[in-house]
Amino acid sequence: ASSTQPIRATLFPGDGIGPEIADSVKQVFNAAEVPIEWEEHFVGDKVDPRTESFLTWESLESVRRNRVGLKGPMATPIGKGHRSLNLTLRKELGLYANVRPCYSLPGYRTRYDDVNLVTIRENTEGEYSGLEHQVVRGVVESLKIITRQASLRVAEYAFHYAKTHGRQKVSAIHKANIMRKTDGLFLKLVKNPTLFDVLVMPNLYGDIISDLCAGLIGGLGLTPSCNIGEGGIALAEAVHGSAPDIAGKNLANPTALLLSSVAMLRHLELHDKADQIHDAILKTIADGKYRTVDLGGTSSTTDFTKAVCNNL
Ligand code: NAD
Repeated sequence: ASSTQPIRATLFPGDGIGPEIADSVKQVFNAAEVPIEWEEHFVGDKVDPRTESFLTWESLESVRRNRVGLKGPMATPIGKGHRSLNLTLRKELGLYANVRPCYSLPGYRTRYDDVNLVTIRENTEGEYSGLEHQVVRGVVESLKIITRQASLRVAEYAFHYAKTHGRQKVSAIHKANIMRKTDGLFLKLVKNPTLFDVLVMPNLYGDIISDLCAGLIGGLGLTPSCNIGEGGIALAEAVHGSAPDIAGKNLANPTALLLSSVAMLRHLELHDKADQIHDAILKTIADGKYRTVDLGGTSSTTDFTKAVCNNL
């Protein structure tokens, strides 16, 4: 970390508000003199036959080479003949766990002021296997796949995460009383605790519960995440989507993507820069003078970003 050689990382600005909040990250990284050199990749406008999606092969190669990156939200264009962008990334890069820390921000009051938990979502199977078919007319079937291998892999990661982040407990979230076989298999591998600290769970529950957790602390504008992939790949991204309702209006809260970039810096063990940026974001929100509209303020994305840079 002390070397002057910049570290290469892949950046997907993404769709909708993605480019605006990615700009915010680039500005803050410049101001903080973070030794990162971005390799920027945009979602293509035609299907790349090598990925069967609008993601280019070169962009996936960039992540595979750099092993680290930051991703803005991606809206999947509706239509046939291509795969969802997010699904393509997960499958092609083997992104098996999505880590979503969620903690109350000092100075920003919500109904709950002491939330501090981490959800770890199994990212490759469960209800998201994409295996659906019609059994007979009027009856369709969607297969929920749970395998021993993927359950064990995400459970091991959850305990690894807990140990390396000073967390005390890992809880498995399940409905094994109803789904005895699938959730039962998941539970058998991770059964334990009482207190919520780190929560590990199958794909669909992860989607729902982490969005609920975001609601506890002030909404989707605030919650970061990091995808962990095979061979040590880390691709950080905000939990939220492309927010088409506010895209291009300089209204988006860049906090979630900024905190995701902080997670990326921690993964790279650039802890000084990570702390500096993290503290500047929290100070800006706590001061209350510059807050975006989703937090009840009137600041634009760019004003908030400037305030964070000034607080570095
Ligand atoms: P969304 O997260 O984009 O928006 C939900 C609501 O939250 C909207 O009102 C939006 O304005 C608000 N919001 C989200 N992020 C915000 C921010 N940073 N600042 C202020 N307000 C914010 O969810 P959606 O509308 O269900 O999805 C829109 C598109 O995004 C869809 O095409 C979906 O497939 C895609 N999506 C992508 C990802 C991803 O790339 N990881 C995740 C979720 C959804």
